[in-house]
Amino acid sequence: MMTESKEIKLIDEEGRRVDGRRPDELRPIRIEAGVLEKSDGSAYIEVGRTKIFAAVFGPREVHPKHLELPDRAVLNCRYHMASFSVDERKPLGMTRREIELSKVLREALETVVFLEEFPRTMIDVFVEVIQADGGTRTAGITAASLALADAGIPMSDLIAATAVGKVAGTLVLDINDIEDKYGEADMPVAMTPRRNSIVLLQLNGRMTSEELKKALEMASQGIKKIYQLQIEALKKRYSVVSLEE
Ligand code: ADP
Repeated sequence: MMTESKEIKLIDEEGRRVDGRRPDELRPIRIEAGVLEKSDGSAYIEVGRTKIFAAVFGPREVHPKHLELPDRAVLNCRYHMASFSVDERKPLGMTRREIELSKVLREALETVVFLEEFPRTMIDVFVEVIQADGGTRTAGITAASLALADAGIPMSDLIAATAVGKVAGTLVLDINDIEDKYGEADMPVAMTPRRNSIVLLQLNGRMTSEELKKALEMASQGIKKIYQLQIEALKKRYSVVSLEE
């Protein structure tokens, strides 16, 4: 692993990254709302080579019934990677990582959804990773919040997310799989862009406190751009609906 990491040049002489980006540049991002027909709300996101669908059902009857809460809706989240989303052989069932990321997703979304408006119901959020190339938890959260909005579920804000990494001593925005694997640090951040509050923050690896501050600022700048794309996706969806009616 260490010998491999020395062979890969994560930042070249011109300061460019493995995919040619500058340190503060996001990957090309495409976001769409209302892309699936069977669910109440849905979204699709592409961040570079990472591709994810999110689908929302509800508020609907709680299943299994014993999970029902008298004062609020249950937010049921499932993060799952398709078997063909990674190049290694992935187990068919839910792995420990997927169970943990489902919880991370739920805890971020619970900060914005008005669950108390729908007691004794369940809202199901499915995040399906179709192709994984780094940043699936952050792209998954971005898509899931858009799918909730598309389902018409009342929320205080959308959530947008990205990860800042440290590669070859340089802070870089929106790390891809190679940068995640061979870099020195990975910091996924999710924020509510309008209220500017952080609803997910993780850090693997090592950063100084100055770097952490700068990394948060970089994440916040990236998140604002992603939020604009979410808004555009909703506007586009809305204009298509009104044309059809
Ligand atoms: P995130 O996708 O949120 O960055 P991780 O840091 O856990 O989450 O994973 C980084 C990347 O590693 C993923 O996006 C994916 O490209 C790759 N990866 C994750 N799990 C697997 C797996 N089971 N097999 C192969 N690659 C994986």
